[in-house]
Amino acid sequence: MSSAPASPVNMFALFELARAREDAISLGLGDPDVPTPAHIMDAANAAIAAGQTGPTEVAGLPELRQAIAAKLARVNGVQVDPQREVLVTTGGQEALYLLMQALISDGDEVIVPDPRYTSYDGAVESAGGTLVLAPTSPDDGFQLHAAAVEACITPRSKLLLVISPNNPSAGVNTPETMAALAEVAIRHDLLVVADEIYEAYLYDGAQHVSLASLPGMRERTITLNGFSKTYAMTGWRVGYLAGPAWFIEAATALKGIVNVHAPTVSQWAAVAALNGPQTCVEELRAMVDRRRLMMLDGMAELPLRASRPQGGLYIWADVSPSGMDGTQFSYRLLDEENVLVLPGAIFGEAWGDWIRMTLLQPDEVLQEVLERMRRICATAPV
Ligand code: PMP
Repeated sequence: MSSAPASPVNMFALFELARAREDAISLGLGDPDVPTPAHIMDAANAAIAAGQTGPTEVAGLPELRQAIAAKLARVNGVQVDPQREVLVTTGGQEALYLLMQALISDGDEVIVPDPRYTSYDGAVESAGGTLVLAPTSPDDGFQLHAAAVEACITPRSKLLLVISPNNPSAGVNTPETMAALAEVAIRHDLLVVADEIYEAYLYDGAQHVSLASLPGMRERTITLNGFSKTYAMTGWRVGYLAGPAWFIEAATALKGIVNVHAPTVSQWAAVAALNGPQTCVEELRAMVDRRRLMMLDGMAELPLRASRPQGGLYIWADVSPSGMDGTQFSYRLLDEENVLVLPGAIFGEAWGDWIRMTLLQPDEVLQEVLERMRRICATAPV
């Protein structure tokens, strides 16, 4: 049958397996399946034509930091000084690594929602920190409750990580949940990282609240964001951190050692993304929303329990009604039907029965995936 290994499952090994297969359909990586909008490409071409290919300041182009500060004020209600409180990074991925290196020392505890984007595990552990898992549940759309966070607090608690909209659960914390999290963070004097990389993708009327905009939170919150998801710019590798000047100074010093600055041409493209027309953002959101509803409809016919995404780019589904766990399901789907989805075990030990799939393929490809999942389920071991 399948070649599923015992856990833990290595996400990158799975990507390799899929890459080696002819015509595999990938619902693996969270990379929008449309080109970067034309006006952003044009700005990059113009930067090249103008010879703007030299180095920038470590913290990033002043024009980009200014555009980021303006966006944070306009969209998120967060006021930052572009000179001292913004660091442009080589993708959000570098940002999450740098921030743990800057903030976490041996023995510090970092409270993270479970299931989780496990790149943070590696970042926390390589800084000498320990992860403490705050459970979330499908019963209430994967809210990160203040009570669950409070139950994790010890004298070693240093940092609370909030990812909303969430990867992989696709939950969005309500404004009430966010207010309660802020209250707990203030009462226990925690630093907070607000990963807002999926903020542009909201559904069913869900609202996104930036923690840094809430009273008493600005001085303890680091906002992480990027361009990959909102503007279909995954390969350009631009992200950013915004937060208190002492933190930005420390993270900037580390960035100077790691790779000096984000790619210059990509930074000019990012300026155009933020300062240009925003219709592309709503177009992308509406496209993913439509596919979300289509897939939920199709999956309702299958022996799976898909949770209803409130935000982000993924469907997070319990596949145990099919008689398989998430790892068996994923390996069979790849082995027999040439479709890559990710086993839930990648996103936390408690999530072995789940899978994560992106909504980032054209409608007709997603319809074909439904058909292939149907075949896998029809021949499931009992
Ligand atoms: N944070 C979260 C929650 C993510 O899911 C990702 C990418 N999958 C990132 C950060 C990093 O994204 P990028 O490096 O493309 O900006």
